Amino acid sequence: MIARLLAALILCCLPAAGVASAQSFAVTLDDGPHLNETPLLSPAERNRALLDALAKHKVKGALFVTVQNGAARPEGLALARAWGEAGHFIGNHTMTHPDLNKADVTLAKYQEEILACDAVIRELPGYRKWFRFTYLREGNTPEKRDGMRAFLKEQGYRNAYVTLDTSDWRFDSKLREVLARDPKADIEPIKRLYLDHLWQRAQAYRDLAWKLQGRDIPQVLLLHHNLVNALWLDDALTMLKQKGWRGVSPEEAYADPIYALQPDRPAAGQSLLLSMSRSLGLGRFDGWERLVDDGEFEMQALKKLGY
Ligand SMILES: [Zn+2]
Repeated sequence: MIARLLAALILCCLPAAGVASAQSFAVTLDDGPHLNETPLLSPAERNRALLDALAKHKVKGALFVTVQNGAARPEGLALARAWGEAGHFIGNHTMTHPDLNKADVTLAKYQEEILACDAVIRELPGYRKWFRFTYLREGNTPEKRDGMRAFLKEQGYRNAYVTLDTSDWRFDSKLREVLARDPKADIEPIKRLYLDHLWQRAQAYRDLAWKLQGRDIPQVLLLHHNLVNALWLDDALTMLKQKGWRGVSPEEAYADPIYALQPDRPAAGQSLLLSMSRSLGLGRFDGWERLVDDGEFEMQALKKLGY
């Protein structure tokens, strides 16, 4: 009887392997719009490619604006506006991307950065009072952490958490380095390992959600407004869809109660799931190292291939 009950519970509560599941995810891109020069595509072409990939997959995403990367100039602001006009959301990622964990970045200085960014983005369609911490660092002291929590609340902002953290930026810098050396280089291996990386992180964070919450949560995926995603966001979304993952809007994801939590850690930050597991003393689960290795595992694999 008990065995049958257990079997029924397992059947109802565990995601079945290999079939379409209830797992969902929302796409968010930080540090945009970027007006820096890269190989292959102009800033406007990169912006267009990202928007086209989201449109093709009928997914609404969010762009977290760092003003000095582009939106301080009319042509950059126009790129940000295109996101809002296409139905995506616009969030705040400071003026100059300072690191709140640094001793010389005061709470007051960091908050000024947020208010100044808000003044630039508030006129854009899709604007939301969503704040994404730079480097996902919420302060190196309890005073900064609590000061920010109080400030965001007072301003009507939410902490726009990430759960599915990736090291896409590492692949982006490798890709640009390889193309700078040889514009005709074969970049397929970088793409393949980038997709492997995303899938490894996706599965690991899904497992972590089950460990901590006993369920699938709508994962918030962190990517950046960069060349890697301009080229391969379409492939990444195709892969996730083929694995049974469903794209949802960040607004829908943030409605999940998990995104109202505030892990009790002296120095909060990183993926909300990682932060939660650490605050519970469960940070050293199987495979945790690969969630904080900055993509080193795949970089080593690329190195073996001569990259
Ligand atoms: Zn950033």
